[in-house]
Amino acid sequence: MAPTPKQITEFMHAAEDEAQMAGIIGEVPIGAVVVHDGKIVGRGHNLREHSQNGTHHAEMMAIEEACLVLHTWRLEECDLYVTLEPCPMCAGAMINSRVRTCYWGAADPKAGAAGTLVDLLTDTRFNHQVGSVGGVDADISAKMLQDFFRGIRAKRKAAKKQKQAAAAASTTTVVADPAVAHAEAEHEEPEITGLAVLKYAAKLEAKQKQADQDAKAANK
Ligand SMILES: [Zn+2]
Repeated sequence: MAPTPKQITEFMHAAEDEAQMAGIIGEVPIGAVVVHDGKIVGRGHNLREHSQNGTHHAEMMAIEEACLVLHTWRLEECDLYVTLEPCPMCAGAMINSRVRTCYWGAADPKAGAAGTLVDLLTDTRFNHQVGSVGGVDADISAKMLQDFFRGIRAKRKAAKKQKQAAAAASTTTVVADPAVAHAEAEHEEPEITGLAVLKYAAKLEAKQKQADQDAKAANK
């Protein structure tokens, strides 16, 4: 059954929550959920930087989780909600996973494969077409991305200023302690990285456990 407008809003909000999580850990804020029978069965957010894997887009993570939960690669009765227009890889994954409809937020002028650069989802030359509904809550996802990149630019600017100040200071009498700077850097980065990866692993594990339990319950 096709979702009601209220459900579309609700599930896009869930995708936006995922995007926010990505932003918090320093990833470009893009989030996705897969919905089956009115229930979210897969969640994902961009993890490209933490995993150093170019395939770890929000949609791919959400599809992976949905397949684990539903014990099938066929997501024929599933819809995917994503905050940004899918790229060619994710559009391809949706075609190959037989996703029913993709609801997406902001258009992506650099990689959009749902109509902006190409339209893979509805191309009838493929063996499966994915319904495509774009522009859902687009202003919210676009703002999240704008804020994120604005924040990065501001951080870069501040770091540059600090570097210049340190360089100026080192020519006089004050010398920054490199050991302290190193300890601070060591302390911050790996901790955040480890946490995100662990969180992701734990999430998958919990979903798998739940799926196993459901399968057991169904067999009883
Ligand atoms: Zn993608």
